[in-house]
Amino acid sequence: MRQPARKRPRRIFSKLLLGLILFVAIAGGFWFGLIPQRLSPFSPVTLDERPSFFVDPKLSALRFDTELCQAVLKQPHIDATPIPDRVSQNNCGWVNAVRFTQTGGAKIGVDPLTCEMAAALTLWVEHEVQPLAREMFGQEVVRLGDMGTYDCRNIVGNPFWKGLRSQHAAANAIDISGFTFADGRTISLLRDWKGSGKESAFLREVHRRSCRYFRVALGPEFNKAHANHFHFDRGLMWTCR
Ligand SMILES: [Zn+2]
Repeated sequence: MRQPARKRPRRIFSKLLLGLILFVAIAGGFWFGLIPQRLSPFSPVTLDERPSFFVDPKLSALRFDTELCQAVLKQPHIDATPIPDRVSQNNCGWVNAVRFTQTGGAKIGVDPLTCEMAAALTLWVEHEVQPLAREMFGQEVVRLGDMGTYDCRNIVGNPFWKGLRSQHAAANAIDISGFTFADGRTISLLRDWKGSGKESAFLREVHRRSCRYFRVALGPEFNKAHANHFHFDRGLMWTCR
């Protein structure tokens, strides 16, 4: 027997709603790193090559997976050592984090940084920063200017967000102040971002190329608080400015 015509739009609407809820649930699962690698349709992230597509969900899969983290964060790409989780009651601390002294051939003293961020940083340094350094300056970056990772504090520089914990409070962010090259030359965000020279072009291009690895990639254009560094994190927001 045919259904009354007025019931059909309602049925279509509920199917669409169900589809939308399912889509949001799956997308949220990837976004929060809740879908384990074995259930993921994407191949595990590797530091061996520049990833082509689906970089974000591949990195998210590392969030809570310590075994996958150890399999991915390998020499010579990074000398990562896992460190015990630390969760404090004031919404600070970290889970699945590492310490390391080099990433992508550049020295840096990091302790701690989440595994997911360490992988993102290594991909950016090794497959974006270093090729550009060779192309523009004929040499590699040997040291990254490090302004820190973990800091139990709220977001600074923006009154709208000031009540919220920074991703630094979860060791899920890093601030980079500049680059030192093999011949000793340095390029600094504070000194070289503005201007029309090669140094400024290098900084703007490495910033542009960071957007696919970090959910938040902020530079001097964002606000005064970032005049002297890039801020990179893999929290829940998404912006590249
Ligand atoms: Zn920062």
